[in-house]
Amino acid sequence: MIVGGGVIGLAVGWRAAQRGLSVTLLEREAIGHAASRVAAGMIAPISEASPSEPALLALGRESAGLYPAFVAELSRCAGVDPGYRRCGTLLVARDADEAEALERELAFRRELELPVRRLLGREARALEPALAPTLRLALEIPDDHAIDPRALTQALELAFCAAGGELRCPAEVAELVVANGRVSGVRLRDGELLAARQVVVAAGPWSGQLPGIPSEAQVPLRPVKGQILALHDPSGPGLLDRVLRMQPGYLVPRGDGRYVLGATMEERGFDTTATAAAVFELLRDALELVPGASELVIDELMVGIRPGTADNGPILGPGMVEGLHWATGHHRHGFLLTPITAEVVVSGLFGEPASTVAAPFGAARFAPAPVGG
Ligand SMILES: Cc1cc2nc3c(=O)[nH]c(=O)nc-3n(C[C@H](O)[C@H](O)[C@H](O)COP(=O)(O)OP(=O)(O)OC[C@H]3O[C@@H](n4cnc5c(N)ncnc54)[C@H](O)[C@@H]3O)c2cc1C
Repeated sequence: MIVGGGVIGLAVGWRAAQRGLSVTLLEREAIGHAASRVAAGMIAPISEASPSEPALLALGRESAGLYPAFVAELSRCAGVDPGYRRCGTLLVARDADEAEALERELAFRRELELPVRRLLGREARALEPALAPTLRLALEIPDDHAIDPRALTQALELAFCAAGGELRCPAEVAELVVANGRVSGVRLRDGELLAARQVVVAAGPWSGQLPGIPSEAQVPLRPVKGQILALHDPSGPGLLDRVLRMQPGYLVPRGDGRYVLGATMEERGFDTTATAAAVFELLRDALELVPGASELVIDELMVGIRPGTADNGPILGPGMVEGLHWATGHHRHGFLLTPITAEVVVSGLFGEPASTVAAPFGAARFAPAPVGG
């Protein structure tokens, strides 16, 4: 039983059904309607690398490495294109302060021997002519790519069903049922009881709020709001080829004239209102760097809630009560981490040990310390 029909629940469901498990996925609203619908879709472990998160970098690079085979298999199984683009990424600096910060980012990546190339402004403009002439410095990250989140989610839904998975939507899980110290199923909002030997909680930022989970097995999640614009170029593709990351946002081309411009990071609980300030901030930075973007048409202002954890890492695999499994806490990296999450969580369902790269992301790291002793 899987709770949650976002990209994570669908990917876990697909892989679990492929391995012969009988899988039912429960989604309370619509498949992929939450964060999975609004994400930018960057697969960018190297651009997002932080010196304080080495384990997350390793996990992200492993997952990015799985992507080509993952999407190739998915398009065969689903019969649709999941929208993966090997486009590369440019990190850009507009002024002396930003250039200094970018030099530090470069030094850290070179220390770890990550693939990155330093470009002067004119060299970056040779790659992306739409960049403003005032550009100071850029880093090219050739291995950081992007996927179209809605296309991927749709492909996963089709592949899940084709593999024999059962989709129930709308079906809201009101409570996890625990009997004799182990999970025995879930109770739906309408009272229906569904038995299951194993339950995977993939309910995004709502995962920590699911009633019925014993206190010693709960995990701390915080909602992180993000506002993001969807745009398109009426004259077609070509303005930008690579993902562009600036301080503090990004512009992601879909390759067909569509773009997303994101995103805010706001600690505002589950508030999903769209604000004028966010639109202003997002457009101000992007138009300074890519003046031609002023001709883009605004299609949508989207708001999503990221599931954040205290260490920004996901929670993957068996929980602290038998039969409970976690696939949540992906914060800014749900799309990047989709292939590895499915692999790790399904391994856990079969009782296989976590791989070295996934081991730091178990639920045990949030378990309360034993009392006394
Ligand atoms: C603005 C923005 C930009 C982003 N950009 C990127 C990016 O470029 N790259 C990247 O890798 N990640 C990005 N992310 C992060 C990514 O979107 C998330 O990490 C990912 O979508 C999480 O997927 P999920 O399936 O866990 O959660 P969700 O998509 O939130 O899905 C959870 C689902 O669970 C359902 N649910 C909840 N409770 C219940 C219940 N009780 N019963 C039944 N169903 C329930 C919900 O209805 C929902 O459909 C971005 C996020 C935002 C907001």
